[in-house]
Amino acid sequence: MKKSKRLVAMTCALFFTLSFTACKGKVEKSISEAVVNFDSITFTDFTQKISSDDIYSTIEKFSATDNARVTGFDGEKNTAQYIKKQFQELGFEVTEQSFPITSYLCNSTELTIGEDGNEKIDSKSLQFTKGTPKEGVTAELVNVGMGSHTDFENKDVKGKVVLMKRGEDYFKTKVERAFKKGAVGAIFYDPANEDFITATLGQLSNMPAVSIRKPEAEKLVKQLGEGKSLKATLKVDSEFKEASSTNIIATMKSKKENSGKHIVVGAHYDGVDTPAANDNASGIATVLEAAKVLSKEDLDCDVKFIAFGAEEIGLVGSKHYVESLSLEEKDNIAAMLNLDMVGVGDTLMVHTMDEGVKSLPADLAVSCINKFSLKTERTEQPNSDHSSFQSVGIPAACFAYGVDKNYHTDKDTIDKIKKENLLNACNVLLNMCKEISKNPGGFSNNKS
Ligand SMILES: [Zn+2]
Repeated sequence: MKKSKRLVAMTCALFFTLSFTACKGKVEKSISEAVVNFDSITFTDFTQKISSDDIYSTIEKFSATDNARVTGFDGEKNTAQYIKKQFQELGFEVTEQSFPITSYLCNSTELTIGEDGNEKIDSKSLQFTKGTPKEGVTAELVNVGMGSHTDFENKDVKGKVVLMKRGEDYFKTKVERAFKKGAVGAIFYDPANEDFITATLGQLSNMPAVSIRKPEAEKLVKQLGEGKSLKATLKVDSEFKEASSTNIIATMKSKKENSGKHIVVGAHYDGVDTPAANDNASGIATVLEAAKVLSKEDLDCDVKFIAFGAEEIGLVGSKHYVESLSLEEKDNIAAMLNLDMVGVGDTLMVHTMDEGVKSLPADLAVSCINKFSLKTERTEQPNSDHSSFQSVGIPAACFAYGVDKNYHTDKDTIDKIKKENLLNACNVLLNMCKEISKNPGGFSNNKS
């Protein structure tokens, strides 16, 4: 996930009281002032009703293999069916919403390099990299630094494999730039991190692109700097297929008379090519537990629990869901609460899509987290499913513990998950549902 920056201040023209009725205050208010009004809410401690052991064992089940739930592959599909069954057992009405996607899986990469071209170096593909013929691509290696326009100006890369640092531009942009200059392959490394880069090119690239670890990369940079001529052979075996993914939508009906407004509680269940324990088995497993607890409460409005597919290839599932809604249906969403990566780290962060986006659910969340004396931070983070809702004006907030240094790596495994985090995230989520359901019309952006 992109590193997020702290939201310092936002303009709040109308100010909310506890009962969510607006009063006028035309001065600029910071977030901390804005959330003050939620502070007199008595939040409920649900922790006795939550089983963090159950959440943990669901995560364990969902992250049992190295490529547990890759978008468009069997792991994702099987997980969807498991989730569907869980919701059905709670007595909810469950529907599946399928949509087409292009799925991608890299089976292997192999890189040999060196003066005589036979030193093996571990590599990892960038997602959506083009594959190579079986024998691979063999070419001279050239260091192009950051891979900026200027870097390419003075370099002849025609028919060569380029070595580039991470940073400044998107990977996709740099790969395209190199390809246009005639390069036949790209090798990236992260100057700020020892490990491989896990990143997506967004769509099929024109040439193979992999990453290597920083120490190996720096050794190559040094050798090239000394004028040595290095030969690289790059082999990438990857699979593309037209596939489909599915959103699982479970509706928990309120027994009380209500306005038809409802809360959406969501989490994506697909993963990148890793065990994907924290990202995002943790989120969906916590949502399943919250659903179990809420099924025994009687909220004042309906809740739709949505397990989103295909988040990792560009929020495809949540975008599809939002696009399928009529204006009235969008208007009926009181708030969207998203959980993405709630198992690792020590700060329960509350994200909104962008700096300056107003979000009463996010304000309420910060108040609630403070009430339970947990560490929190209000941040911006567009890279998850809440953005699909927030971008069309639906009030939303995303919960994520941070920071997870193993994000999108093979080290995203169950042993890093803290049960305490799962418990806290679930408790806050339950409180959010309870408070919002009391006045589901009160969280609309038009009222703030
Ligand atoms: Zn995620």
